[in-house]
Amino acid sequence: MGASVAYHLTRLGITDIVLVEREAQLAAGSTGRNAGGVRHQFSTEQNVRLSLESIRSLERFEEEFGVSIDLHQDGYLFLLSRDDDVELFRASVDLQRNLGVPTEWLTPAQAARLAPGASVDGVIAATFCAKDGVADPNGVTMGFVRAARAAGAEIVRGSEVTGIDVVNGRVAGVRTTRGSISAPMVVNAAGPWAGRVGRMAGLEVPVSPLRRHIFFAQPAAGASWDDAPHRGQVPATRILVIDFTTSFYFHRDGGQLLFGMGDPAERAGFDTTVRWDFLPEVVEAGVARLPALADAVVSHAWAGLYEMTPDAMPIIGPAPDCDGFYVIAGFSGHGFQHSPAAGRVLADLVTGRDPGLDVSPFALERFAAGTQAAERHVV
Ligand SMILES: Cc1cc2nc3c(=O)[nH]c(=O)nc-3n(C[C@H](O)[C@H](O)[C@H](O)COP(=O)(O)OP(=O)(O)OC[C@H]3O[C@@H](n4cnc5c(N)ncnc54)[C@H](O)[C@@H]3O)c2cc1C
Repeated sequence: MGASVAYHLTRLGITDIVLVEREAQLAAGSTGRNAGGVRHQFSTEQNVRLSLESIRSLERFEEEFGVSIDLHQDGYLFLLSRDDDVELFRASVDLQRNLGVPTEWLTPAQAARLAPGASVDGVIAATFCAKDGVADPNGVTMGFVRAARAAGAEIVRGSEVTGIDVVNGRVAGVRTTRGSISAPMVVNAAGPWAGRVGRMAGLEVPVSPLRRHIFFAQPAAGASWDDAPHRGQVPATRILVIDFTTSFYFHRDGGQLLFGMGDPAERAGFDTTVRWDFLPEVVEAGVARLPALADAVVSHAWAGLYEMTPDAMPIIGPAPDCDGFYVIAGFSGHGFQHSPAAGRVLADLVTGRDPGLDVSPFALERFAAGTQAAERHVV
């Protein structure tokens, strides 16, 4: 988000920018640990609009930024096994189609044909959008950063923001482990840590960190998913399949299979240690949808942090009561894919332009006002 905002500000002629990153590398937070999924299939109009703009931008990204982002639009397939979920998706699919997204309803048999190897036992309906897909988060971050730097932005790595100076209700600068920077505008793009950074300015930014795992599997030593006897056990494309009941999902990642699932027992916290004791639960849910997982070898895993807000909608915009302070955070597990549009929207708001969509569902004030329209396709 920070990289996207920096880039979009430079496009509007603001080039006196410092992007401050605590870690030695960029994309070291949630962005470097995500599954790379990009989808239009959301339940709120604002998220669908962010997806439409962002995915259009990703389709042109390599040409525009000169970096590879490994975009594969092989679709997202949601498998639904409960009547209530079908009802929820009915409204979402109508919304998506009204906004121009080509989401389709599929029968379980059609879904099985699209995702060879997936089991559709108990599935009553499925939705598929062929324009959804997966891409490389590091490539996208580097594309934004390089373009921002070329336009004059300064990128400082290994520097932690430790304080924010606010004078008479106006932001005046940031203090970092490598010195102070005076600034009339500060953007909090600290992902799961946005609550901490908000508190430095005396603000409540309700973003809580939630650990999520990604596991990688292969067939037994030396074998490939693409050759006999494993061919057909997992899809050959990068289609992303989600069992909406359990939140188990998988997609091909080159020669490997990437999979994950939310843990309803996980509590908010910054710990990103891999909990290997959670793997059996994931595999049990996973085998029901992808039988090949039963004999697969899990080679490695990592955990990262979702950045949850109470309504699973992002915060994009100015902070009330602190002039010059902006927030772009709380994407609740789907921020990589929304980074192109969200950064553009924030840059418009910072420069007083019309962002071209209703931003009230993104406003920080909504939590106090109790006017949330929650995103319900959180997986
Ligand atoms: C396992 C997993 C799977 C996911 N899958 C997907 C997916 O398929 N598709 C999708 O769109 N999204 C996915 N996400 C969510 C996505 O990764 C996040 O929404 C997105 O990366 C948020 O980007 P960000 O820039 O807001 O935060 P981050 O990428 O976390 O960036 C915040 C940066 O701020 C830095 N920082 C924090 N505090 C300070 C400080 N005090 N001083 C200086 N720097 C600081 C951090 O080091 C970090 O680099 C997934 C997340 C996880 C964990």
